Amino acid sequence: MPLPVIVVHGGATKYREEHIPAIIHAVEHSAETGLKVLDKGGSAIAAAEAAIWALEETDLFTAGRGARPNRDGYVELNAMIMDGNKLESGAVIAVQDVVHPISLARYVLERTPNYQVAGLGAKKLYDEMIESGYRMESSPGETKNTPMGEGHDTVGCVVVDSHSRIASASSTSGWPGQLPGRVGDSPIIGAGVYANEVAAASCTGRGEQILRIVMGRMAVLYVEEGLGPKEASAKTMRLLKEKTSGEAGLILVDKKGNVGLGFDTPHMPVAVAYSGQDTYSSMTPEWPPSYRT
Ligand code: ASP
Repeated sequence: MPLPVIVVHGGATKYREEHIPAIIHAVEHSAETGLKVLDKGGSAIAAAEAAIWALEETDLFTAGRGARPNRDGYVELNAMIMDGNKLESGAVIAVQDVVHPISLARYVLERTPNYQVAGLGAKKLYDEMIESGYRMESSPGETKNTPMGEGHDTVGCVVVDSHSRIASASSTSGWPGQLPGRVGDSPIIGAGVYANEVAAASCTGRGEQILRIVMGRMAVLYVEEGLGPKEASAKTMRLLKEKTSGEAGLILVDKKGNVGLGFDTPHMPVAVAYSGQDTYSSMTPEWPPSYRT
């Protein structure tokens, strides 16, 4: 497949009918935002940040401006970004008063020797990031609380740039009403997000189930073992079903730009954007789409 490519998802969940057009528009816009970065020669990491930022900026997903409060009524955000070729990642966990945790996750990746920063430390790092001019302040506190789905809808993406560099990312406020401090799979390396020089995966859905099978790492491993992303996604979904109660999904891409995806929920909005081609999007995606095979 032609490089670059970007795939984004808006959560393995069930959306209310009336929100579907906006959700589809948002994932398409996100993928196209990332693709623009790639088409200008930007890196996979830069495209992943831009795509996730675009989804965080809507109030449609349980991430960024759409973040939902925990049991005690406040929002804690998680985000992760991984550079596959360097095998390095940046994650922020249970951070408060931040609108775009994906940028902070990238800051952890690029500007600190650490991979995972949580809570108060992450908020302090955010203040340092703004002060350093790495990113601009994004009207703090302006998060809305509009449930679109019937639970949770993390956002994620996988990217391969024109130099075959691979990245994976996710952003979430976790489950609405979750225990304060609860952390799912999304900011955990190998569970919600994984990338190496062979492939990248981003997972969504029941974090506790995803963690049990280290889902992102397993999907990438299956590609390393010789499966194409389509078969590797199917095998990962079979493992999820065999070992857990499921309710999850994933997007997967290999370094050549081949895409795989799988989900066992009613919806998993996905957009796939290859350079120079029409963007594919669906609430119940299949790849390759039947009309293209
Ligand atoms: N996986 C996320 C979590 O468990 C939720 C989601 O993907 O929607 O926190």
